[in-house]
Amino acid sequence: MSELDLILFGPPGAGKGTQADRLRGDFQLPFISTGDMLRTNVKEGTDLGRKAQEYMDAGELVPDDVIVAMVADRLQQGDAQDGFILDGFPRTIEQAEALEKQLSELGRRVTAALLIDVPDEEVIRRLAGRRVCVKSGHNYHVEFDPPKHEGVCDQDGSRLIQRDDDQPEVIRNRLRVYHEKTAPLIEHYDEQGLMRRIDGTRPPAEVHDHIRAVIATMRLEENV
Ligand code: AMP
Repeated sequence: MSELDLILFGPPGAGKGTQADRLRGDFQLPFISTGDMLRTNVKEGTDLGRKAQEYMDAGELVPDDVIVAMVADRLQQGDAQDGFILDGFPRTIEQAEALEKQLSELGRRVTAALLIDVPDEEVIRRLAGRRVCVKSGHNYHVEFDPPKHEGVCDQDGSRLIQRDDDQPEVIRNRLRVYHEKTAPLIEHYDEQGLMRRIDGTRPPAEVHDHIRAVIATMRLEENV
């Protein structure tokens, strides 16, 4: 069977993190989130974290060469040899081309790009109310998915905070960057026949079912 090399993308706040938590349990595939990797580096104060932080705080993209090197390293690890789900990468055409080059050197190619689609006004509503736990990044929403006790994570009891990049002016900048730099990937993967669109305005359980169905279908197709 060939690997499932999947890309999950969409505007900020499309629910990628929420779906990642759900999908992790479904498939034996590593879930690789560049946003999470960068946040870990920032927290640990590594060189990479220091380079990335100012871009992240401003809602700008970290330069392509930094991100491409980080992902290339990660994809060489053992657990990615049978496939992966990439979340938040690629985010530019240059990153997509670098990924394609790395995969093709291994005789592999992207299996599909899954777009979780959500309009801008919904993104703003979601992100402005989002809270994450400081320990493991579990997501909540003050209005749609509040924790049982205000400010405390249901799963591990740690403190909930608002990400710096979820401040309103930063959200607007992240959306601008998404439309300018990342949305062109839709056409890029459409041309290659790899795009799968998922309606991200549906409730999380339905979005999850849809993604699972798409992946299960691809698995079957890869098997024949
Ligand atoms: P995320 O959690 O995916 O929204 O990522 C948070 C921030 O990390 C983004 O706003 C960017 O500053 C940075 N980042 C994550 N992934 C990438 C990427 N593929 N290219 C450039 N910057 C990225």
